Amino acid sequence: MKKIAFFCIPAHGHTNPMLPVAAELVRRGNVVRFYSFDEFEKKIRATGAEFISCDSFLPNLTKQEEAGLRNVSATEMTVQDIRITLSMNEFLDQEFKSFQPDVVYTDSVCFWGKLNAWKHHVPMVVSTSTFAFNQMSSRYMKNSPKEIADMIFGLPKISRELRKLKLYGFRVKSVFSLIQSDNNTDSVVYTSQMFQPCAESFSDHYAFVGPSVFSNVLPVKEKDRPLIYISMGTVINDRPDFYGKCIDALKNLNVDVIISCGNAINLEKLGVLPDNIRVYPYVDQLDILAKADAFITHCGMNSVSESLYMAAPMVLYPQTNEQHAVARRVTEIGAGIMLKEDSSEGIRTAVQELLNHSAYGSAAAECSVDFRVCPGAAGAAEFIENAPHSYA
Ligand code: UDP
Repeated sequence: MKKIAFFCIPAHGHTNPMLPVAAELVRRGNVVRFYSFDEFEKKIRATGAEFISCDSFLPNLTKQEEAGLRNVSATEMTVQDIRITLSMNEFLDQEFKSFQPDVVYTDSVCFWGKLNAWKHHVPMVVSTSTFAFNQMSSRYMKNSPKEIADMIFGLPKISRELRKLKLYGFRVKSVFSLIQSDNNTDSVVYTSQMFQPCAESFSDHYAFVGPSVFSNVLPVKEKDRPLIYISMGTVINDRPDFYGKCIDALKNLNVDVIISCGNAINLEKLGVLPDNIRVYPYVDQLDILAKADAFITHCGMNSVSESLYMAAPMVLYPQTNEQHAVARRVTEIGAGIMLKEDSSEGIRTAVQELLNHSAYGSAAAECSVDFRVCPGAAGAAEFIENAPHSYA
C-alpha cells in the first residue's frame, strides 16, 4: 500500500484522464489524496480518493487576466500557475509533512505538484494529458503569430514571477524546465506508442498507456441514420458563431446532430433548433462517441483519444498549437480531415466527405483496436506504484 498525492490544474481535460488512474490505485489498496478544486470534487470522490479543496488558493483575477486564461495564453497560464504555487506554499509544506506521500502524481503543467515533489524529495510521476513533447515531436505544433507574440512579450512578466519562486526557495532553472519533461522524468502519457508522434525518441521513463477512460463500452454504429457529434471542448467553447454555422450546415442533411456547447452559451441565442439537432451544455461524451459516425472537434487530446477509442472519424478544427499537433497526427493515420473553411458550406462538405468515404471510419476503428490493447489506467497505476524507475 502506498500513499499517493495527486495534483492537477483546474481543467477538465487535465483532470479527466487522472480519474480512472486514481480509481485503479484505490482499488489496489493505495491511499490517494487528490489536491484539486471544488468543480471536480464529485468526480474525484467517486474514485474513492480523498479530495482536498484548493479553491481558496486561486488568485482573484483582473478582467484582462481572465480573458488571457480563456484564450489559453501561455504567459497568463504560466503566471497564474506560479501565483497559485506561491499561495499554496505553506499549506503544502504542512501537507507533505503530515501525509508523507510515497509518490507524487502530478499533471505536467501543474507547477505546485512538480515543485513540491522536488522540494520534499518525493518520487514524482508526471501525468501528460497531451502528446509527450520533446524537440522532435514538438515539430508537430504550429504556433500562430498570436501565440508567438504572447510568448515573446510575456517573457519579462514570467521572469518576474520566476524570481519570486526562487525567493521562496524553489530551485528553477527556467520556465521550460518546469513545463517540459526530459528523458529521465517518469511520465505517463495517455496514448499508444502507435499514435504518439516520434515515439521512438522517448526513453523507457515514458509509459504510453493508451487512453485513460472509464468506459468499456464497444462502439455500436448501427442505426437509422448517421449521428454527428460536435464539441469545442471545455475551455475555448464560447463559439455561438461556429455552432450556428454547424446548425445551418447540417439542418437539411439526413443526419442527427448533437452539439455540446459548454455553459457560457445562452441556448436561446441559437434560435429555434431544427428537428434533427439537439444542443446541450454538457453531455456524456464517450457514450455519444460510441454511436457517432463523425465528430467535429477542436482536437483536444482527450476528445480525439475518446473519438478514436470509439472508432468515430473526425472533422478537425484545432484552435491552439497543441491541438494542431493532435490534428496533424489524426490526418497522418487517416482517421479525419482538416476543416478547410469554417463556413456552413465548408462544414457540410467536410462532414459529407467523412460519411461518404468509409476509409476514415476504418482508420479510426483500427486505432480503436490499438488503443484497447493498451493497459490504460491499470498500466498507469502499476507504473506509479513502482516509481521511481531506474533504467540503464
Ligand atoms: N467532455 C464531456 N462532455 C462534454 C464536453 C467535454 O465529458 O460535453 C469531456 C471530454 O470527454 C474530454 C474533456 O471533457 O474528456 C475535454 O478535454 P479535451 O482535452 O478534449 O479538451 P479541453 O476541454 O481541455 O479543451
